[in-house]
Amino acid sequence: MEQTLTPKSEKRLTRTRSEVREMIDDNVTSVSKSSDSELILPVPITFSEIEENLQRLLDSNKAWAKSITETKPEFFTTMAQAQHPKIVWFGCSDSRVPAETVVQLGPGEIFVHRNIANQFNHADLNSLSVLQYAVDHLKVEHIIVCGHYGCGGVLAAMSNNQHGLVDNWLRNIKDVYWINKSTIESSEPEKRADKLVELNVKQQVYNIAATSIVQSAWADGRKLEIHGWSYRLDNGILNDLEVDIKGEQDLSDHIYKVYCRNHHIHGSHAHGHNHEHGHRHA
Ligand SMILES: [Zn+2]
Repeated sequence: MEQTLTPKSEKRLTRTRSEVREMIDDNVTSVSKSSDSELILPVPITFSEIEENLQRLLDSNKAWAKSITETKPEFFTTMAQAQHPKIVWFGCSDSRVPAETVVQLGPGEIFVHRNIANQFNHADLNSLSVLQYAVDHLKVEHIIVCGHYGCGGVLAAMSNNQHGLVDNWLRNIKDVYWINKSTIESSEPEKRADKLVELNVKQQVYNIAATSIVQSAWADGRKLEIHGWSYRLDNGILNDLEVDIKGEQDLSDHIYKVYCRNHHIHGSHAHGHNHEHGHRHA
């Protein structure tokens, strides 16, 4: 959550249209390749003039599509047929943490949901729907919750200031603080925000594991792992918080276990079964 707008510099405002156009052309023709997937990753355009003329975005898009088509002619026709991502990503809306960019993946490789401070709330139909579609239909194998140090949402939740409607959304983070108060306040004052960022990620990992969506997949014997990461803005590195939950055995608190529909049908734990079940609820 960016809280301040960067003022435009004199120099930027004096650039001519043709100079800006050259910058766009330079950026979009500069492509890199991911060693694993060989996906083409255009270098993102980052300059504040873009807000003055959205036509530049449309021009940039055309140049991007052209550069990919020239390098990999079948790319868009393949993309148009179907998506088969193996990962669903729950991240922060912060513009500095773009999911695909920070792991060098491209279109079709990650199913993404982002909101302020990467929340997974059991009453939020939006994130629940993303999870249900990703698990039941796309058959993803990995769920990643990705927070980031310096998260404006977490910092706002730690303060007693009013920020408006968003304070209701951030209330869950205050609860995470309250539950972990002694752990957080035993840290050095300058490290408390980082600690809460990590604890917030861990809480969302548990929230996802507590859904019948995930637990039904486990009961069907499916591979489905939940991971918690945190991204550092000042060096671009993802930190694995090692809070993975890879199955029901990792869900320590019994109160969050859900007896899935197939348990009732078959009368016992159904690990290894591959039956399709008609209706699952969050
Ligand atoms: Zn954030």
